[in-house]
Amino acid sequence: MPATSPEYVKTSTAAAITLGFQPGSFHRDARLTGLNLLLTYNEPCAGRCAYCGLSGNRLPDAEPTFIRVDWPVYALDAILKEVRRDSRGLERVCIGMPTHRRSWDDLLKVVNRWHRESDLLISALLTPTACRGRDFFELRAAGADMVGIAIDCATPELFERYRGRGVKGPHRWEEYWEGVSRAVTVFGRGRVGIHLIVGLGETEAEMIQTIQRAQDMGVRTHLFSFFPETGTILARRRQPPLGQYRRVQLARYIINEGLGRAEDMTFNDAGQVMDFGMDITPLVKAGEAFRTSGCPGKDGRTVACNRPYGNERPSQAIRNFPFAPEPGDIRAVERQLRQGLKGAVAHAG
Ligand code: SF4
Repeated sequence: MPATSPEYVKTSTAAAITLGFQPGSFHRDARLTGLNLLLTYNEPCAGRCAYCGLSGNRLPDAEPTFIRVDWPVYALDAILKEVRRDSRGLERVCIGMPTHRRSWDDLLKVVNRWHRESDLLISALLTPTACRGRDFFELRAAGADMVGIAIDCATPELFERYRGRGVKGPHRWEEYWEGVSRAVTVFGRGRVGIHLIVGLGETEAEMIQTIQRAQDMGVRTHLFSFFPETGTILARRRQPPLGQYRRVQLARYIINEGLGRAEDMTFNDAGQVMDFGMDITPLVKAGEAFRTSGCPGKDGRTVACNRPYGNERPSQAIRNFPFAPEPGDIRAVERQLRQGLKGAVAHAG
């Protein structure tokens, strides 16, 4: 019998190591607190996103990676049994869906099993294209307490180019934001997050304005740094410079924590942040802004979905810290925040 959902799911490599299904340990003793799962089918995802490892237009002989790492398939029974035996500090499970005709029904089944058979909090990572005509109240009733929607691209033009008509893909910008709005109606403000990927060609100003748009809807942003997946259309694109990523991380933190707004920030002609509209020294020293942003754990505040090394190789500078950055990390971040800034005259963005 083919190993497909709802009986089987993919897990991130970090999840497989944490569950003891694969050997390995984490660089600098990072500890995974959110278990990331994906529904799995024999057919590729019907999406054709230019950067995604699951994409239907990815070269067939490419390594099967997604968000940089392998996603091995395991029986849901085995995963649930292992988590019940020893939860290993895990606080949340996230179930993601590819664009597939069965994925909504299977999502409900898998969410419901976690709800009945574990005490982990449950996020559903929704693909609005695969949720057409579906009732999000069913998902809440099945046991999900949070929803994520991967908008990924910061502007409608980039979305269209890399996820929509530009790649003959099925996803539509308006439908994704409509999905975000529907999710807020059902789950409430603060219970929905969007994913945005830094480095797909947007300016810092464009990314920060989109983060503010979501915030005004009651939606936090979970940031990712672009990583080129082999065999995808964007396989040769470079990762965004660290300076760009750090400035967007800090702006996201300021906006999502309600400390300031995009309109208070100042940008240069290249759209880079020149001034955050507040004294950033204490924020940088505290380091919280540079930790992974994601759905929270049981205290409702500390991020559970910490995705260690999901955005870079362990040998590279850490982009999303899965733990509290140390003093040496903070010193590096202070330097990185100024990297790559063009010397143009600052103006309000
Ligand atoms: S932030 Fe993490 S837990 Fe939340 S929806 Fe995204 S991947 Fe899932």
